Amino acid sequence: MPFLLLEKLTPRLLLMVSVAVAVLTIALKTAAWWVTDSVGLLSDAMESLVNLAGAVFGLMMVTVAARPADADHPYGHHKAEYFSSGFEGVLIVVAALGIVWAALQRLWAPQPLEQLNWGLALSVISSILNGVLAWVMLRAARVHRSVALEGDARHLFTDVWTSVGVVVGLGLVMWTGWLWLDAVVAVGVALNILREGARLVWQASQGLMDEAVAPDVRETIERTLAGFAHRRGGVDIVRFDHLHTRRAGQRCFLDVHMHMPASWSLGRAAALRVSVEQALMSAVPGLRASIQLLPTDVEAHFHDLDDLK
Ligand SMILES: [Zn+2]
Repeated sequence: MPFLLLEKLTPRLLLMVSVAVAVLTIALKTAAWWVTDSVGLLSDAMESLVNLAGAVFGLMMVTVAARPADADHPYGHHKAEYFSSGFEGVLIVVAALGIVWAALQRLWAPQPLEQLNWGLALSVISSILNGVLAWVMLRAARVHRSVALEGDARHLFTDVWTSVGVVVGLGLVMWTGWLWLDAVVAVGVALNILREGARLVWQASQGLMDEAVAPDVRETIERTLAGFAHRRGGVDIVRFDHLHTRRAGQRCFLDVHMHMPASWSLGRAAALRVSVEQALMSAVPGLRASIQLLPTDVEAHFHDLDDLK
């Protein structure tokens, strides 16, 4: 695919296309379920809900969450994506439980499937649509270095594989006449959807509760700070403590104390603070650091974990 064309396909545009394609595939797969009465195809249609969620979630990331900070939201809008993913996660979990319920009833009382050819044809068409879109999105994601786009493309690929599984399963039903296979396929797909939905809800809840940065990021921060700390003759000259971090979407925040001799001028202290801040920001992209200046022997107490020890 020509590079120039990929340049023109912005993440926002592709995610909007992705929302439209998700709605279209839900319609196609629902039609497939309608003509065949197969719960396997119904579960495949519900799986497309995950795509819709993924696309809407990605769109939130590149629009609302990317909005610059304003007077009412001085820390930015990055947490918007947690609301979106949390809400979508709940919807997906409910859909998955619905499928399991329907499939289990089918397992006790199997019903004949009708016009399987038509159902399978519709499912294959929508999978091809998804596959092509995912392929274009993955390539565009590399050109634009977009996390949102890449995440959505990966979702789409999983959906294509699920559909392949469903089509193979129903092919076996046609061939062997084992109707219970339909319900088994549906339960398999539903469990996968359930896992995906639970993961979204879990991630959102962690984000909303100000989860700390990942251990490797914390390590990078500590290593950077250690580069500025120093002791002379067994006495701390510059020391960092009370380090706290939190995540908000693509951004992360940090609070830390920088202790230094009380005899230092404010100008000297401020100059060091700027260097530390710049080093931190270049070590961890998207980091905002707030560094409190304190004399060596003075501690500021916030009733936090460190003070309660
Ligand atoms: Zn301190």
